[in-house]
Amino acid sequence: MAQNLRFDGRVVIVTGAGGGLGRSHALAFGARGASVVVNDLGGSFTGEGASTRAADVVVEEIRAAGGKAVPNYDSVLDGDKIVETAMKAYGRVDIIINNAGILKDVSFARMTDQQWDIIFQVHVHGAYKVTKAAWPIFKKQKFGRIINTTSAAGLYGNFGQANYSAAKLALVGFTQTLALEGKKDNIYTNVIAPMAASRMTETVLPPDMLASLKPEMVTPLVEYLCHEDSTENGSIFEVGAGYVGKLRWERTGGHGFPIDRTLLPEHIQERWEKITNFEDGRATHPTSTQESMEGIIANFENVAGEA
Ligand code: NAD
Repeated sequence: MAQNLRFDGRVVIVTGAGGGLGRSHALAFGARGASVVVNDLGGSFTGEGASTRAADVVVEEIRAAGGKAVPNYDSVLDGDKIVETAMKAYGRVDIIINNAGILKDVSFARMTDQQWDIIFQVHVHGAYKVTKAAWPIFKKQKFGRIINTTSAAGLYGNFGQANYSAAKLALVGFTQTLALEGKKDNIYTNVIAPMAASRMTETVLPPDMLASLKPEMVTPLVEYLCHEDSTENGSIFEVGAGYVGKLRWERTGGHGFPIDRTLLPEHIQERWEKITNFEDGRATHPTSTQESMEGIIANFENVAGEA
């Protein structure tokens, strides 16, 4: 197939690009003409230590293939410095891939405040800091593409990951609000829940599964969403092993109790089947806070209805 989706003249920041998914994203953008800021703190997957090597190796790979790249070794907590690297090296920034991340897996009963806080710091505060520094630049140039990285653990929960799943779902809310605020300035934000073999997953997934989960099978979605041709905005995608799918909310038709009568827990119990039924043909897919409130507002008129 012809490779029409080019990024010549675009400057891309990929955080956590020293390995795994970030490395794959950085190499792909580099190969399609973008100038890439390869950010990586170079620590362990649980966030200990730091090294310049991880970013340097990927920069060398991009350059060896004829691409343009510079390294950045700051933590995403200093996101403004990462954006500064892009501005100093290339004078602009167009695309941000918030990908850096660590794990501190432990059952909730044994989780410390420190294990909770550091996960929020890296995933949520880190994505905030990088994006915040680039936002005025995006607004001024009327172009920006942002990809945040959530996880199935955030969307559905996962044993031993209360900190990680809470932080990852925070990035979904972050995405959806940025999508609303950026739209008029051609700034589009989306979020991916990837699955790929990396040092983060190599100890938890079986080897035969890991062989099918190449990071390179996640990256093309990221490239497409970041291209100027794409107007997709505020969406959640599950992606891995060549599968790409979009996710949305579903709400049951529910039951509206009369607003002019006392509502008791027994009323709720009596209507539980209807309240929780997705299969009765009345379920909808709300996409905004306005649509979220539809059922509630419609019930303002429900005087003397069925209890
Ligand atoms: P990885 O450990 O290979 O990559 C993460 C990178 O982020 C590392 O190179 C690490 O050095 C870097 N990093 C960590 N803290 C940093 C910081 N403070 N500043 C800058 N860089 C930092 O793991 P991966 O699997 O490639 O994960 C990439 C992203 O995808 C993460 O956000 C992860 O939570 C998410 N994710 C991965 C999977 C998967 O199946 N691999 C699934 C769901 C979500």
